[in-house]
Amino acid sequence: MAVVWLDDVRADDLDLVGGKGASLGELTGAGLPVPPGFVVTASTYRAFIEDAGIDDELFAAVEVDHEDSAALQAAHEAAHDLIMETPMPDDVREEILDAYRSVGEGDAFVAVRSSATAEDLPDASFAGQQETFLNVTEEDLLDRVKECWASLFSERAIYYRNRKGFPHDKVDIAVVVQQMVDAEKSGVMFTRHPSTGKKEIIIEAAWGLGEAVVSGTVSPDNYVVSRESGEVETATIADKKTMCVRDEESGETVMRDVPNGRRHERVLTDDEVSRLLELGELVEDHYEKPQDVEWAVYDGEVYMLQSRPITTIAEGDDGEETESEGDSGGSSRATATGDDVLIRGLGASPGIASGRARIVTKLDHLDQVAEGDIIVTEMTMPDMVPAMKRAAGIVTDEGGMTSHAAIVSRELGVPAVVGTGDGTKTLEDGEVVTIDGDKGTVREGEEPEEKQRQPVEEARPKTPVKPMTATEVKVNVSIPEAAERAAATGADGVGLLRIEHMVLTLGKTPERFIEQNGERAYVDEIVSGVREAAEEFYPRPVRVRTLDAPTDEFRQLEGGENEPREHNPMLGYRGIRRGLDNPSVFRLELQAFRRLFDMGYDNLEVMFPLVNDAEDVLRAKEHMREAGIDPEKREWGVMIETPAAALCIEELADAGIDFASFGTNDLTQYTLAVDRNNEHVADIYDELHPAVLKLIGDTIETCREVDVKTSICGQAGSKPKMVQFLVDKGVSSISANIDAVRDVQHEVKRVEQRLLLDSVR
Ligand code: PEP
Ligand code: MG
Repeated sequence: MAVVWLDDVRADDLDLVGGKGASLGELTGAGLPVPPGFVVTASTYRAFIEDAGIDDELFAAVEVDHEDSAALQAAHEAAHDLIMETPMPDDVREEILDAYRSVGEGDAFVAVRSSATAEDLPDASFAGQQETFLNVTEEDLLDRVKECWASLFSERAIYYRNRKGFPHDKVDIAVVVQQMVDAEKSGVMFTRHPSTGKKEIIIEAAWGLGEAVVSGTVSPDNYVVSRESGEVETATIADKKTMCVRDEESGETVMRDVPNGRRHERVLTDDEVSRLLELGELVEDHYEKPQDVEWAVYDGEVYMLQSRPITTIAEGDDGEETESEGDSGGSSRATATGDDVLIRGLGASPGIASGRARIVTKLDHLDQVAEGDIIVTEMTMPDMVPAMKRAAGIVTDEGGMTSHAAIVSRELGVPAVVGTGDGTKTLEDGEVVTIDGDKGTVREGEEPEEKQRQPVEEARPKTPVKPMTATEVKVNVSIPEAAERAAATGADGVGLLRIEHMVLTLGKTPERFIEQNGERAYVDEIVSGVREAAEEFYPRPVRVRTLDAPTDEFRQLEGGENEPREHNPMLGYRGIRRGLDNPSVFRLELQAFRRLFDMGYDNLEVMFPLVNDAEDVLRAKEHMREAGIDPEKREWGVMIETPAAALCIEELADAGIDFASFGTNDLTQYTLAVDRNNEHVADIYDELHPAVLKLIGDTIETCREVDVKTSICGQAGSKPKMVQFLVDKGVSSISANIDAVRDVQHEVKRVEQRLLLDSVR
């Protein structure tokens, strides 16, 4: 039998119908309304390649060096051609076409989706690697099925399996063929609040096909429904300018303007909300886990298109923020805990990964870091970034949540545990360990593959819908290579682009680099780094900060011997004070901005770090003018990182700033006198300390009076409690880490809705 009907499929038929097929079958079997369809089974594909005798040739063709992109492309083409040019056996063709003719009236538009299977490796189907085709009819159906088979050998899929060392012949592919639902309205539904876990149903709905909602191109209506009473607690009706529809002629999915009369019309009727609530309860009961459901309404019926667990809610989550469980500082091997935890620190970058520990004490040890190893080091440095990219995880002795290791790992999407105290001494070079970047633990041994969480997956939006918020939600970027991932989060811009990384990776102090290569070369370096982000986000705004690296970071570079020796570099020669004291390098940074403005990057904004008072600001402004930047025409502002800056905010506003951005990493250390990088005091480093919040709250209040925008770009902007506080106070924007953007969007939306409600009650 080449095909099976979804009605006959259950969750444990994974090997036969792949993940997608099994999940749709399970929903169908649970009595939930799923559009009808069938699956061309994985064994049909396997029989196709084996009976035609192309299997050996196919698998041999894709055994290539996956780092060689030309070889990878050639492998993909060879495999694709082999599959496409091999005829499908007649009986299989007939069976698929027969099944198709029984879907709908026999001339239905169907969706054709790949559904890969792999023993021991659920991730083999790695989201997005395989093809999906919409609006397919009989004419193209068989070719589309073969295209799905061939997509098992896309470049990404070959690369991924080779990198994982996973044999190509252990993966099969099924193909789901399902009636397209020509939705009049559609959207998503969370059976719990995706950030807080609260027991309410959240529905987002828009006109037309679901793609517009899922991709965030239209702001949908939002309904919050109590699961206790079934009442709609809030219904926020959005202005829905566009909708996704199927073009009658071509069958393609296209965007159309919503007719004027419907833009502000409520999408869901009370009956439809009740039906969704009912289905939400059923699907959550069925899976015994909160679900994130894609649904559509067609001809008065509500259909479920997909359901998956909400990954942002931890089991038993009662809505409280989950912080790292690890205490920081010193540890002893697997004794205190009695479990297999070897060492604890701060969970600095989420994800779980296993690999061989590589103790890196000197830079020349970096060569020994192989793909998939866990780097264990005192503290990471910019030169380590290429090795950090290869690594499966990072463990450091020193540092807090705002250290280099923490910031870069988050941007690279590599799990990290920082501030373990003596990880480099406790862990043994070469031993296999598992790090948990959420809990902040390093355990002995290897975690089964399915329990490890893909760093790439961690970076993906955890829920498919981009919530529309009045408070802008931006993202922080420190390494230009992360700009693409950062932009993919759907953030409203970059709230902080640090240029330190671009400068420190030169391997020389700016002075030495300029001495050897000339001023122009230095400007070029900054232009090219900043441009990467400016281009990626254009026209969304990108706030770029002038250099702020403490002298101890420069000291490690060539030319570092000329850096002043400071007792406490955090309180020393850094940020704007250095720029103003010795403007030779600072001027060049401003020239780089000028060049970028001239190149048309009018989305750039200039931000000055570590200012204390109006004098700092006025002098910096003068330098801008000298560099040919008109402060009246460009958007510029300052970081609020010292209590002095917060207390002098009125004077700073008078000096002409457009925005003030809270650098809570520094503001906290200077308010509480707690070194942010010192793991011994990490437990009293608290961005939510009332003193810090008072400085922030008062500053926002003043800024609102004098029309200066406020923002946060410190690490605390990714914490739900800080987000609640800031939105309550009326902050203009929040800039979060890449991995936190989507959750922050939801949190902001929740607070905004509460504020709206409070104002009308
Ligand atoms: C801050 O201090 O909060 C900040 C964002 O700047 P940095 O972490 O680069 O000091
Ligand atoms: Mg700072």
